[in-house]
Amino acid sequence: MSGEQVLSVENVSVSFPGNDGPLCVVKQVSFGLNAGECLVIAGESGSGKSMICRTLLGIVPDQAKVAGTRIDWLGRDLLTLESKDWRAIRGAEIAMIFQDPTAALNPLITVEHQISDTIRDHRRCTRSEARARTIEVLGMAGFPDAEHRMKSYPAELSGGLRQRVAIALALSCSPKLIIADEATTNLDVSIQAQIVKLLKDLQRDLDLALIFVTHDLGLAAEIGDKLMVMYAGHSVETGKVRDVLDDPCHPYTRGLLRSAP
Ligand code: ADP
Ligand code: MG
Repeated sequence: MSGEQVLSVENVSVSFPGNDGPLCVVKQVSFGLNAGECLVIAGESGSGKSMICRTLLGIVPDQAKVAGTRIDWLGRDLLTLESKDWRAIRGAEIAMIFQDPTAALNPLITVEHQISDTIRDHRRCTRSEARARTIEVLGMAGFPDAEHRMKSYPAELSGGLRQRVAIALALSCSPKLIIADEATTNLDVSIQAQIVKLLKDLQRDLDLALIFVTHDLGLAAEIGDKLMVMYAGHSVETGKVRDVLDDPCHPYTRGLLRSAP
């Protein structure tokens, strides 16, 4: 339901083993997210944005150590979740869209089958029900002429259409949270604007929670309700997008705003 908190991240850190002791790349980060709300995570390359996203899906690299007080996802603590329980959450409740849509797509499988197989992995349904849902989510993602073009392989599609397929795949199991990690960074500006609008519309229409990672503060203002700025693993400030952009507290954010185009 709109406004209800779905996610609460409390003091989460991620570290890797280093020669001189553990190297902490996410440092005691905390934030919350409500249904129907978009949190933008901004910050320079290497500041820990992707590692936070990966932590929320339980897909950090093997060597990474995640610690913290709690990651509350609808009443469950993701920090202590057993691997068998991730299956019900990853993809089904929390879905991720990556910078490179091919990261989520198998080049050897048609669009139709990638999505319908994912649906059938998560839900008990017939082939024709899965096909109907595939057409539905492709339509929701603005993939044109879905019924025919879903027979394409990923390589036969433009980058923008591949990202729409990745969004359809993310929507296929009706997640409550979508994490878009630089999902529009590689796209042409006009396509980028379409995908941002699509995500914004989906967020509103489906009451989705959205985490949108970008280093573009212009996009943050367009899509975000809240903005968290990351710097060297720290969350240096979090607040309503307009408040942070109009009156940043941290020198790093001020610098980022000065250097924004
Ligand atoms: P961002 O998404 O903000 O660009 P990341 O979350 O990908 O940054 O990375 C945060 C930090 O973690 C970076 O300094 C990166 O070098 C480090 N890092 C990422 N993956 C590994 C790894 N497998 N081993 C060691 N350090 C890593
Ligand atoms: Mg990243």
